[in-house]
Amino acid sequence: MKIALIGNPNSGKSSLFNVLTGMNQKVGNFPGVTVDRKVGKFHLEGKEATLIDLPGTYSLYPQSEDERIACEIVHNTKHVDFADAWIVVADATQMRRSLLLCTQMIDLHLPTILVVNMIDLVQNVEEQIDFSALAKNLGIPVIPVSAKTQAGISTLKKALLQPLSPSKNTFFQIPDSFLASIQKIQNHFALPSPYAAYQLWVARDSFSHFEPKDFATYFSNIAIQPDKRLISNEMAVRYDRIDTLLENAAPSQETYAEKWTERLDKVFLHRIGGYAFFLAILWVIFQLLFSVAELPMGWIESGISWVQSLAHHALPAHFLSDLLVEGLIEGIKNVVVFVPQIAFLFFFVALLEETGYMSRVVFLMDKIMRPFGFSGRSVIPLIGGMACAVPSIMMARTIPNRTERLITIMVTPLMSCSARIPVYVLLVGLFVPEQSVLWGLINLKGLVMMALYLLGFLMALLAAWVFKIILKYKSDGIFVSEMPVYRSPRWQNVGLTIWQKSWAFVSEAGKMIVVISMVLWLLKSFAPAGKFEAVEQKYATLMENAPAQKDSLTTALQSEKLAVSYAGMFGKVIEPAIRPLGFDWKIGIALLTSFAAREVFVGTMATIYSVNDYDEENPKNLREKISADINPQTGKPQYSVPVSLALVIFYAFAMQCMSTLAATKRETGTWTWAFVMLFYLTGLAYLAAWATFNLASSL
Ligand code: GDP
Ligand code: MG
Repeated sequence: MKIALIGNPNSGKSSLFNVLTGMNQKVGNFPGVTVDRKVGKFHLEGKEATLIDLPGTYSLYPQSEDERIACEIVHNTKHVDFADAWIVVADATQMRRSLLLCTQMIDLHLPTILVVNMIDLVQNVEEQIDFSALAKNLGIPVIPVSAKTQAGISTLKKALLQPLSPSKNTFFQIPDSFLASIQKIQNHFALPSPYAAYQLWVARDSFSHFEPKDFATYFSNIAIQPDKRLISNEMAVRYDRIDTLLENAAPSQETYAEKWTERLDKVFLHRIGGYAFFLAILWVIFQLLFSVAELPMGWIESGISWVQSLAHHALPAHFLSDLLVEGLIEGIKNVVVFVPQIAFLFFFVALLEETGYMSRVVFLMDKIMRPFGFSGRSVIPLIGGMACAVPSIMMARTIPNRTERLITIMVTPLMSCSARIPVYVLLVGLFVPEQSVLWGLINLKGLVMMALYLLGFLMALLAAWVFKIILKYKSDGIFVSEMPVYRSPRWQNVGLTIWQKSWAFVSEAGKMIVVISMVLWLLKSFAPAGKFEAVEQKYATLMENAPAQKDSLTTALQSEKLAVSYAGMFGKVIEPAIRPLGFDWKIGIALLTSFAAREVFVGTMATIYSVNDYDEENPKNLREKISADINPQTGKPQYSVPVSLALVIFYAFAMQCMSTLAATKRETGTWTWAFVMLFYLTGLAYLAAWATFNLASSL
């Protein structure tokens, strides 16, 4: 038995889905689009039932990608997700709006049950809503439940066991003048009801993906053409019927939750106070992110290093052991180390969504973001990008408009993420003196760092603007958001979100990250025949002659091996291409290896300059070595101010992060956009670094 949950956004479909299926659920995408498709299983007296959580929709006339998917499934009897029974989930505090969809489902002659959810939010609900009158007038079972307290869930299961037949009522009569044509359409496409034919006829643009091959041609050849006003007429008729239905059967007085919501919104949506409160929340999130999420990241890193050293001692000295320890395990570390950040950011996002505050953020930010072609929904991924682009790109799923979502994904990596910090710390130190100005109030380095954050943000806006033009994107006009009442979160929902997002990243993006990590390791660890041996021999002799210097010679050996490896060769091969930016082959190597993740840059520089002991927070001795490097051609320091500046700018824009690439591939569903991102960001970084180098050199 296949059962589908359909209903308005925020009516509690997913909560109900979680209550019914528990952990027994699979999250994937609907074919061809990256909209969450959640399917689960549960037991109905021994029989197994499949439950699908459809994307939220206000009516069966779709207005967004999500709505279109839900509507398509309802209309397409051959769709894999076409259900045997349909549960319309209504919000008890929003009966009027919820019933619109319900009457449409009834007119489609689909076997439907109405579940009135959130009854815990309505005081004396039995007095407020006359469920039996509602059931009689709708002609379908009506079951009050609360996904929160789980009241009514067993009654719902019992109802699902009864044979279910479509309602005999009709809520909207198709105008007589169209009846003959509608009849023809219904026969032609073998549709189960005249209303299905009517919907396809009135709103066929929205159903362009409908299965039958001749769908579009059939309608373009049809004699009578619909008028857009037909939809609004239909809605008016439906609301009239619903109002009569609800006259004595729905809460009239304001609920307790609504009263509180109104009071809280006076603060949270205040012109000034609202923004101040949001900033305060962000501040808390980022404080916690850096103090709390860093802890498990550290544990993961040291835990895996420990496993690596164990394996290193236990395994025979062989190339395969190295591949396993330094290639594969290192690759797995590169995946797992993201999990705390993903989990942590989604914990907060889920919390904001669950309490209902997220809708307020969207509303507040909408006003600010409109001029840049974004809606308030894009703000969360963009802000999240300041921590890490990977979870942020995954957060963009909540943006209903497809193009806007794509643009948001494409520009999110320009926000300065935390992985850039070690790179900035190292490089900014090369050209900015340790100095405070304005009586010690402003630290120069801090000022430059802040400028870099701002630069990333401005570039993100600019890039979005360009994408908007290229993709011919026009925003949907005024944003009509519904403000759900404030509620206490359902922790099961929060937990499942965290689990699903983390697992999606590890299982899907993870594979690619491991593969790239291993390729990068191979490039570093292999050299054309004889090269490594020659270097090793040279150092063997040196060590024999000066055994006291063994440590520093070992470090120098590693540095020289890297220089002759394939990675080193890559650096030398691309040197002509990066010379216009002032970069040499050593930076070329670091550019290659730090494609794994930006912060690898620091480690690679340390290897190249044979610095053993450096500290990421304060890489003083590494910086000294780098500053002392002399360019053999000019006889001047290699890291002049123009070069360091160009390098910083390069890292501010470049897509030096394979995990972002993997996440983009996953979220856009194609490699195309991942590569567009890679090329445009690399190109932008190159041009900006080139301009910076030349401008700074000419000063
Ligand atoms: P969906 O958009 O239809 O999938 O709705 P969700 O399941 O995500 O629920 C939206 C919000 O309503 C979440 O904050 C839920 O915690 C909350 N919610 C869902 N069901 C109930 C309920 O029965 N009672 C209360 N008080 N809140 C609920
Ligand atoms: Mg949902």
